[in-house]
Amino acid sequence: MTPALPAPEHSLEVPGLSWSGTVDYGPGPLHAPTSLAQLQELVGRSSRLRALGTRHSFSEVAASDGPLVTLTSMPADLEFDTAARTVRVAAGVRYGELALAAAEHGLALATMGSLPHISVGGASATGTHGSGDRHRSLASAVRAIELVTASGELLALSREGDPEIFDGAVLALGTLGIATHLTLDLVPAAPMRQTVHLDFPAERMRGEDLLAMLAGGSSVSLFHRWDGRIAQAWVKQRVGEDEQLPETWLGGRRAREAVHPLPGMPADSCTDQSGEPGPPHERLPHFRLEFTPSNGEEIQSEYFVAREDLAGALAAVTELGERIRPLLHASEVRTVAADSLWLSPAHGRDSACVHFTWKQLPQQVEALLPEIEERLAPYAPRPHWGKVFTMDPAAVRAQYPRLGDFRALRDRLDPDRMFRNDYVDRLLGG
Ligand SMILES: Cc1cc2nc3c(=O)[nH]c(=O)nc-3n(C[C@H](O)[C@H](O)[C@H](O)COP(=O)(O)OP(=O)(O)OC[C@H]3O[C@@H](n4cnc5c(N)ncnc54)[C@H](O)[C@@H]3O)c2cc1C
Repeated sequence: MTPALPAPEHSLEVPGLSWSGTVDYGPGPLHAPTSLAQLQELVGRSSRLRALGTRHSFSEVAASDGPLVTLTSMPADLEFDTAARTVRVAAGVRYGELALAAAEHGLALATMGSLPHISVGGASATGTHGSGDRHRSLASAVRAIELVTASGELLALSREGDPEIFDGAVLALGTLGIATHLTLDLVPAAPMRQTVHLDFPAERMRGEDLLAMLAGGSSVSLFHRWDGRIAQAWVKQRVGEDEQLPETWLGGRRAREAVHPLPGMPADSCTDQSGEPGPPHERLPHFRLEFTPSNGEEIQSEYFVAREDLAGALAAVTELGERIRPLLHASEVRTVAADSLWLSPAHGRDSACVHFTWKQLPQQVEALLPEIEERLAPYAPRPHWGKVFTMDPAAVRAQYPRLGDFRALRDRLDPDRMFRNDYVDRLLGG
């Protein structure tokens, strides 16, 4: 009989719950290697393993009925190339920390999610996005990725060196291996300013006006409550590039004081809204790195539709406004430019994102989602992989023309499905 392997020092107890407290990551154990060698040794003696980022997904995308691994104890390994404007970074590093270090080199991320607390590896794996007509998902900035694959070997792939598979490997829902490092494109850290306008007239929800609002800056977020009006427009502009907005803009008035996107919440966790120029990492996210983000007691859902379908999709779902509002903290509309990543919800389509921050009422939310999804169905929605949805997996699969290529890549890199979980199996099939 083979003696049982001793538990390594970097094994923790049980993985626990997600940031929202609504996803149970399973029995574990959760491993926390501190070096590449430890990670490779762990993969080498595992038959099942799944990576955990900073636990900010609301779906079961990171959950497992077996062992998990977190890379948060690995060195950050930030390596900047200022001439090429790139950084190589460990996958467990949070965007906020990366952005701070980049600023010291005069560099910045072109776009960021609303939250700087998420990890580079975890956000890239699900297609996390910020907002901006010209900005693609965060994963689109990845130019190289290093993965420990099922064989325990380190596989380095790059956009230029591996064009036939790279677009399948970056956004892979954790199924191809454990990403150890990513190399990202950066941009010069030109100053940005953020302003918020409030209380837009109802007619601004129509197609052209909505798209004009979303084009009002480099990155724009519109908050509303399914009552046919935009309540807040958060506009993040590049100083010297974007035209400063007037006090009254498209019928909305400039906020005199800082606001929080969730009604009634204090704004001290939010980034500067005074219009004063500042570094991009202090304007692009909605929330400051040093504060607990958003509400904490929430669930999120989000669907990507073609940008030209946004007004129609919002009007269709607004029919359910009275049923949505009692369950809702706030809803947000953002845009994302089309990308070429095989599993990206913005694959091949300039997109608008229809988002819901729900109160933590999982049963009521799951009961309402099918009706919302039915209203969105004519617009071919693609759900955010890291948020809650109830769409039929076949309808999700139908939205991804490169799914067959992705499955072939997964079968090649992980023939015994070491990195699988039920969530991904159910959605991707095969
Ligand atoms: C308050 C709040 C605000 C949010 N705002 C936004 C937003 O603005 N835009 C947006 O798009 N999303 C947003 N999200 C959702 C969130 O950004 C995504 O779900 C993101 O994937 C979470 O990253 P994470 O590091 O927490 O990864 P986790 O949720 O822990 O894991 C996500 C996936 O990444 C995989 N993974 C993690 N690390 C690795 C690795 N090293 N190698 C391989 N696979 C790995 C996991 O297996 C899993 O499949 C928000 C979430 C919260 C809680």
